[in-house]
Amino acid sequence: MKAVITGGAGFIGSHLSDHLIAQGNEVIVLDDLSTGSLVNLSRVKDAPGFRFVQGSILDEELVNEFIAQADAVFHLAAAVGVYNIVDKPLQSLRVNLHGTEVVVEAAVRHRVPYMVASTSEVYGKNDADGLKENDDRIYGSPIKSRWSYAAAKGLDELVAHVYGKESGVPCVITRFFNVVGPRQTGQYGMVVPRFIDQALANEPITVYGTGSQRRCFGSVFDVVPTLPRLLKTSEAYNQAVNLGGHEEVSIKGLADRVVELTGSHSEITYVNYEQAYGEGYEDMQRRYPDTSLAARLIGYQPTRDLNTIIDSIIEHRRSTESVPQPA
Ligand code: UDP
Repeated sequence: MKAVITGGAGFIGSHLSDHLIAQGNEVIVLDDLSTGSLVNLSRVKDAPGFRFVQGSILDEELVNEFIAQADAVFHLAAAVGVYNIVDKPLQSLRVNLHGTEVVVEAAVRHRVPYMVASTSEVYGKNDADGLKENDDRIYGSPIKSRWSYAAAKGLDELVAHVYGKESGVPCVITRFFNVVGPRQTGQYGMVVPRFIDQALANEPITVYGTGSQRRCFGSVFDVVPTLPRLLKTSEAYNQAVNLGGHEEVSIKGLADRVVELTGSHSEITYVNYEQAYGEGYEDMQRRYPDTSLAARLIGYQPTRDLNTIIDSIIEHRRSTESVPQPA
């Protein structure tokens, strides 16, 4: 298979590049390096069948040129991270909304099966126990940046779904629930790499809000191999599929866990949301996935627990020179 991965120099995209190359496929990564990095591609950059193209998904000509040559498209390019969304709302909206339309239109025009990455953000404030794919979305005003992101990703799903349905070109939508692992950066807000970097530097760990909000972190190593499999599973076509882990933790509990596993001297500090993200920010209190659809479709079962996930990130960060080592 010859795959185009948009956002292939990013966190999830680069792991997918590794995986597809290891399986003997050809990969073209299209990435504008806005949040991704060539360092993430160091494993594959010299592999036969690998090609990196620097460019934006807003560039229709470029997107069409490469998708026309492909057998599969994995669309992972997006403006990600809460800081990014809050700081650059217009650019985020353009990339997440128009960029997806460009990629999906190209995939349909050239009749190439495509996967569109979505997020558990689409459920908004719905904190049900075990969110199922068809559950209701609960949002605040779209004028608030966080909800504008959720609304844009919801529209991405709609674009992917309707184009797929009307054209008959295979299409799968994947909803990632707090997927974490080595190479994810804390620069744009993601809590796990932020806490680990803070702990490794023996700096205060910044818990936003009360820390009682809960998340369920999924391993990138559990999630990535499912993506090409879903795209080959006809029962998955035109569906949105939840992917994530099963071990739920409060954010305060996560901070404690990170301190313990790094052996850090960091203290835990509490920061209010306004200080962290600016005025009017709303957090989700809980997000727990029901992954039984992925289990039914391809036998998906997350195998890595939270300690294993955190340990693998610590190991990766310790091997990265830029991170100070704990005393
Ligand atoms: N968070 C935190 N400290 C940080 C960064 C994030 O306490 O330095 C919190 C954040 O407010 C949220 C949770 O951790 O409640 C997960 O945040 P992230 O941005 O990783 O994911 P999302 O909010 O999209 O689930």
